[in-house]
Amino acid sequence: MARGKLFVVSGPSGVGKGTLVKALTAVRDGYWLSVSATTRAPREGEQDGVDYFFLSEERFQDLIDQDGFLEYAGVHGKHYGTPKAPVMEHLDAGQNVILEIDVQGAAIVHANMPESIMVFIQPPSLEALRERLEKRGTESADQISKRVENASLELMRMNEYDVVVKNDKLEDAIRLFIAIFDCYANAE
Ligand code: 5GP
Repeated sequence: MARGKLFVVSGPSGVGKGTLVKALTAVRDGYWLSVSATTRAPREGEQDGVDYFFLSEERFQDLIDQDGFLEYAGVHGKHYGTPKAPVMEHLDAGQNVILEIDVQGAAIVHANMPESIMVFIQPPSLEALRERLEKRGTESADQISKRVENASLELMRMNEYDVVVKNDKLEDAIRLFIAIFDCYANAE
């Protein structure tokens, strides 16, 4: 059986990565979305093992020591990482795997697995991103400022990606996102 392909989806917090990935997996089979580990607290409605594995700093460090992460990074003052074993198992089973991770983690994955397909989601502007984060209402004003500040740094690394999707009009972004995945998934 052919090995699955690894897709890395990055872009600033609040840019709509999750919405685009959900739109793709709703209409296409053969994709598995990796569940990351994090030391941040769960938001209202988030479930352990579904949205993230919510870990203590100590448990997260144990996993680092056991070489359990494909990549990990400090993002907005907390730790986030991709558990390695499930990703490898799904790729070996012929499934395409999607990682929704920040630019630091994406660069680590790309360095270790250069065949991975790197997709960047770009906001229409930093102002629009701030508005979206405010509308989402899951972060404090202070956290929103931190995320927007971080976004401007992340945007500087857009050129490290194979493709960039600007999430301005959502329907257009979804159409383009799905077309890109179709194209890479079906390539030899
Ligand atoms: P949030 O706290 O909003 O769920 O995520 C904050 C940021 O962390 C997002 O940009 C998200 O893509 C990133 N992130 C989520 N999981 C991982 C991961 O496993 N590794 C890395 N490096 N970043 C992650």
